[in-house]
Amino acid sequence: MAKVPFLDLKRLNAPYMDSLKDAACSVVDSGWYIRGHFCELFERAFAEYCGTKYAVGVGNGLDALSLMLRASMELGRLHEGDEILVPSNTYIATVLAVSAVGLKPVLVEPAENSYDMNPELLKNACGARTRGILVVHLYGRLCAMDEICEFANSRDLLLFEDCAQAHGARLRDGRSAGSFGSAAAYSFYPTKNLGALGDAGMVVTNDADVANIVRALGNYGSEQKYVNKFKGVNSRLDEMQAALLLAKLPHLDSWNERRREIAARYSREIKNSKVLLPEIPSTPSEHVWHVFAVRLKNEESRVELQKFLEKRGIGTLIHYPIPPHLQEAYAGEFNGEFPIAESMAKTVLSIPMSPVMTDDEVSEVIGAINEF
Ligand SMILES: *Cc1c(COP(=O)(O)O)cnc(C)c1O
Repeated sequence: MAKVPFLDLKRLNAPYMDSLKDAACSVVDSGWYIRGHFCELFERAFAEYCGTKYAVGVGNGLDALSLMLRASMELGRLHEGDEILVPSNTYIATVLAVSAVGLKPVLVEPAENSYDMNPELLKNACGARTRGILVVHLYGRLCAMDEICEFANSRDLLLFEDCAQAHGARLRDGRSAGSFGSAAAYSFYPTKNLGALGDAGMVVTNDADVANIVRALGNYGSEQKYVNKFKGVNSRLDEMQAALLLAKLPHLDSWNERRREIAARYSREIKNSKVLLPEIPSTPSEHVWHVFAVRLKNEESRVELQKFLEKRGIGTLIHYPIPPHLQEAYAGEFNGEFPIAESMAKTVLSIPMSPVMTDDEVSEVIGAINEF
């Protein structure tokens, strides 16, 4: 085991062992394992947490993304081939969801200070067939939502959010990730800020039609048993994951607060001219620090820092080494050049960040980077 692992999931869940076991036992005992009591309770609790009217549990984050888009297509608000603007430096799942449902992803470069979609470039990328924007609150930082919402409204674009890294991120006025557009997708993959003990996802929305259609799509396209309104899929939140997530949700805000503390220490105490630190937003609640990504001057320097930290037993990861437009799966599909996404892929390095890191571990990371 590394001295400071990048993320230790066992340590993260261990303090809640009793309540997790109780939750699991209740599910076993109930005799009902998919879309039941716990799913309903967790959906209600998570909708309330996000400040939305509805939440629909699905199998994972990728399905949450694709089903929320498909719901808009079934409602006739989006049509096959319509363009959706997505960030050029996102995780591949965002792009996969758009193309999987027959929409066309159009990549928009990020702002270098926030790593998030640049609202100015968003405006340039918007063309005659653009019908929607799918923002990603990458690394846990809310995008410039006031500006983006205003732009979406002015052009009559549908606004969607990929909140897979941003559970609990909020504007100063309390508005939460997932509450800004027509629908938003969450992932509860075990490493996320709120993680299940398996796969799980959620669509949140204020639109009853979207919620109902997502629910039907995830259940073979059926609202009524054996009656199929849509060509659906099987993507449902199971009772076990719902019960475990329900037990963990009350702790999410304090975990995010601890992440902010660690981010603040990194920002104050890491002092190395070779290592560029991420910006802390002026409203701290806007960032939930799913990832703390530093940048190096170039790829060589990144390799050196990663090796240097590895020798000292400090785990790091790269989010993400290959941007979507350079993936073999999308060869030749994207027009234009994406130098910012490419440069980020070569120079970012994520250092340990999790609510269960001790102060000593944080000091260890800071000391090592300052020595580099
Ligand atoms: C994790 C993640 C997803 C996909 O979630 P899964 O539950 O793994 O399918 C989508 N988008 C982003 C930005 C993610 O980080």
